[in-house]
Amino acid sequence: MSLKISIIEQTKKRLVFLLSGVDVSVANSLRRIILAEVQTMAIDLVEFYSNTSTLPDEFIALRLGLIPLTSPVDDSAFLTKEDCTCSGNCPRCTVEFTLDVKATDLPVSVYSTDLQSDDDRVTVAQDDQFPKGILLCKLAEHQELVVRAYAKKGCGKVHAKWNPTSCCVFSYEPEIKLNPAMLDELSESEKHEFIASCPAEVYDESAGLGAVVISDHWNCMYCKECEIKAKEMGKEGMVLITHRTPNVFRFTVEGTGAMAPVDIVRKGIQVMNDKLTYLSRCVNELGQIAPIRDGDELEFL
Ligand code: SF4
Ligand SMILES: [Zn+2]
Repeated sequence: MSLKISIIEQTKKRLVFLLSGVDVSVANSLRRIILAEVQTMAIDLVEFYSNTSTLPDEFIALRLGLIPLTSPVDDSAFLTKEDCTCSGNCPRCTVEFTLDVKATDLPVSVYSTDLQSDDDRVTVAQDDQFPKGILLCKLAEHQELVVRAYAKKGCGKVHAKWNPTSCCVFSYEPEIKLNPAMLDELSESEKHEFIASCPAEVYDESAGLGAVVISDHWNCMYCKECEIKAKEMGKEGMVLITHRTPNVFRFTVEGTGAMAPVDIVRKGIQVMNDKLTYLSRCVNELGQIAPIRDGDELEFL
């Protein structure tokens, strides 16, 4: 089977696709690379000018670091702090944010959208469901919070705040084999009981026919509750749950808002490609070295 990616669902926040024709190790490598090696921007340094809220500076700094920021898809847009030649913060490696909220006569809630960026390419990620953003803290009358925060480029293996996803999982395609003869022997109430035994709503009743049908086999999470229920009903073997094909995987990738999920996957594949190209070059070079024979003395550095 040749390698293939088929998109099942694509929205601003979520991408569901089938990856087929690969070994589980390749699917898992892609998952791990997406989680740990796709670079994004996140707040890494915070200067406090005034914090009279009830929360300590460290607490607020940690919350600021975890706020998802939009990150350019173009890798050359920013350098990591390790790659930049500046000694602190410069426009090539850093985006500056300011937060200045004062509660005068009434209590005020401070939200992530109160952070103002000095670069349009990196701003606080917006979610239509929560237009104000993430609640950072609440200020009582006459309290204030004034900070300057610096966002830098990094990846999830250094700190989870740079992970571009809130969910990145894959599963094997389930195969659900129903025995129609055994199902026909069930009474109406037993059929309903069997359908209700599945917590993932995999089964349904076919309209007007009274038969049990599979509504969406992809919802199956291999809990085996339906097999247990069939056994309890004295119908062992009425349903059998297995993995359909060993090299078809359904991926679900949900973004934090840093990037579109499809871009996260594209970048993950790019990182994987770069790593494998490097590995292949090293192996080729090793192959060109004279073969190691018995008795050779190897020097380990
Ligand atoms: S294994 Fe669990 S999730 Fe899958 S069909 Fe059976 S009851 Fe539903
Ligand atoms: Zn710099």
